[in-house]
Amino acid sequence: MSVSTSVGVATDPGGRPNNEDTAWVEGRLFVVADGMGGHESGEVASATAVRTLAALSDAPDLDEVRVREAIRRAHDAVRDLPHGRGRRPGTTLTGVVVAEHGGVPCWLVLNVGDSRTYRMVGGVLEQVTRDHSEVAELVERGLLLPDEAAHHPRRNVVTRVLGGGAFDVDPDLHWLPISPGDRILVCSDGLTDALPDARIEAELKAEPDAQPAAERLLAAALAAGARDNVTVVVVDAVVTH
Ligand code: MG
Repeated sequence: MSVSTSVGVATDPGGRPNNEDTAWVEGRLFVVADGMGGHESGEVASATAVRTLAALSDAPDLDEVRVREAIRRAHDAVRDLPHGRGRRPGTTLTGVVVAEHGGVPCWLVLNVGDSRTYRMVGGVLEQVTRDHSEVAELVERGLLLPDEAAHHPRRNVVTRVLGGGAFDVDPDLHWLPISPGDRILVCSDGLTDALPDARIEAELKAEPDAQPAAERLLAAALAAGARDNVTVVVVDAVVTH
């Protein structure tokens, strides 16, 4: 069994003057980074992280150790950026690497921060990353309802970040076997702040091709009044036996 992918990508500054999101969709790597920091350094942070990780795009025989090392190199590269007296530049990072695990084609899902990766199987959308955010932790501890989290004033406060002030980075990594018909969605919080999951699922179901699906989701987020940068990556698995 071998896997090829069909990919769509769409991005827009939304309600912001700059677009600090960066996407990478080549080879076996499909990621979104959402940068933060003063004086446009968010753009530099997300681009630096993604450029460092891009070395994985064409690497053969990827495993968890090598992906973790690449994320650590990206963290160091963002930490090394000049920052003056402003907030240290940092970025979220999430997405998938297509790799074999135990001889089985898999999505290696990675995440740092509150951008999200979802998988749609049989028309059902499921978030496959855990947000590293204050409100997500409150929800996990039963102190906040998911509905309250979506509108909470501190919903954008992340607890893990690439770069920033932290000495080390602690990415979540896990394997998901690829099934025929899998659709992966990777997005920045500009999408998920603008649209509830049920709406995202409905938009993805309505469009079979990856590029128009990404554009459709972006358009829906903008029409809903997205106040942040919106970046959408849609990856469809094409499995041949
Ligand atoms: Mg954002």
